[in-house]
Amino acid sequence: MNRSVRKAVRLLVPAPVCAVLLAAAISCGDRGGFTKAERAILDVPDSVLYVENVANAADSLILRTPCVDLSDKALRSDEFRKLAAKMLATVRAPEQDGVGIAAPQVGLSRRVICVQRLDRPGEPFVVYPNVRIDTAYGDRVRGPEGCLSVPPYRGYVTRWTDVVVSWKDAETLAVQRDTVHGYTAVIFQHECDHLDGILYTDRADTVFYNERWAAERARFDSLGCYRRR
Ligand SMILES: [Zn+2]
Repeated sequence: MNRSVRKAVRLLVPAPVCAVLLAAAISCGDRGGFTKAERAILDVPDSVLYVENVANAADSLILRTPCVDLSDKALRSDEFRKLAAKMLATVRAPEQDGVGIAAPQVGLSRRVICVQRLDRPGEPFVVYPNVRIDTAYGDRVRGPEGCLSVPPYRGYVTRWTDVVVSWKDAETLAVQRDTVHGYTAVIFQHECDHLDGILYTDRADTVFYNERWAAERARFDSLGCYRRR
């Protein structure tokens, strides 16, 4: 800013207003905070959220958008708790009956996934914010996969047998790490792919129509599930 412009700004904007503008600029700089559109999704009273479907053009755009982290402030917010609870409810809903879900599948381009820990007693669902696969190793194994956003298809994908994942604990904000093996490692790879805009169909060597799933979906369709509210 040159001298004359600086002088003009000083004349036009009094110091207290400058301070307010600066504070506003800093808060706008919190790119990891929930947006108005994201809050609107989370404010829907239903606990189960609409799942984006790759066959729909607008949904497909969301599914293909790379995700970003949430800020520390956002992780400790009520909105994050709401997102975690609704992702859990959605993946566990009878009409979905999934083993994992990623935030873009419910319309938020955020690095948050929910994974069923089939490798733990009781096979609990766990939410992982700001998650990444640090290392993938072991053998490359081919196995069947499906996706809540790509109904009613299944496909065969080759994945690593072992991964090291890291994420941020939403309470302590400490970075956590875990080594995961077997099918649960496959779920982590599938869900983390979603965060980079990648669908399993991009990696599959074979994709086929699943009749059982189609019948299931038709049943829930008639009940009004899968409709954006
Ligand atoms: Zn999926």
